[in-house]
Amino acid sequence: MFLKGECADFPGSWSDRMWGPDDLPNQRSQYDLRRAAVRICEACPVRAECLAFGIMVRDQYGIYGGLPLRARRQVLKTAQEAGFRFDPDDPTAARRLARYIRENPEIVAAAREKECKRRKTEQRNARQQRWRAATRSTGKAKAPAAATQEPMQDTLF
Ligand code: SF4
Repeated sequence: MFLKGECADFPGSWSDRMWGPDDLPNQRSQYDLRRAAVRICEACPVRAECLAFGIMVRDQYGIYGGLPLRARRQVLKTAQEAGFRFDPDDPTAARRLARYIRENPEIVAAAREKECKRRKTEQRNARQQRWRAATRSTGKAKAPAAATQEPMQDTLF
C-alpha cells in the first residue's frame, strides 16, 4: 500500500511556510506554524522515510520528519556511532536508513531532546547578551522589552 505524508495535501503556500526555511518576517507567526508542522509530522505514517530523505539530500533548511537540520544530523551521527553504515552513494541508503530509524525510534527522541536543550541555551544566552547590552547603554539593570516579545524557541518541540 502506498502511504503519503500528512503534509501532502497542504497548499504549497502553507507547506512552504510550515516546513520550509525560517525566513518569515513575522517570527511569531512562523514559530506557531512550525510548531503545528512538527505536531503533524509526529502523526505522519511516512515520518521515518521523510527523515531519512531529509538526511540523504542534506537540505540545510526546513523540517523533515519533524526535525530541523541539527537534529537530523544528530540522528545520523547517533546511528553511525551505533554501527549503522551510511553510504550516500548506495541506492538503498535511504531505505536502509528509514528502516533503521523505524527500528530505533529512541534516536529520534534523543536528537529532538538535545536540539530542544540547545535551543533553550541559545535563547538564554541571547537574552543575557541583550540584557547586558541594555544595562551597559542605560546603566540600569532592566531587561530590554524585545526579549519578552520573541518566540519561545525552547518550546518548539
Ligand atoms: S513527516 Fe515529512 S511527509 Fe510527513 S508531514 Fe512531516 S514533512 Fe510531511
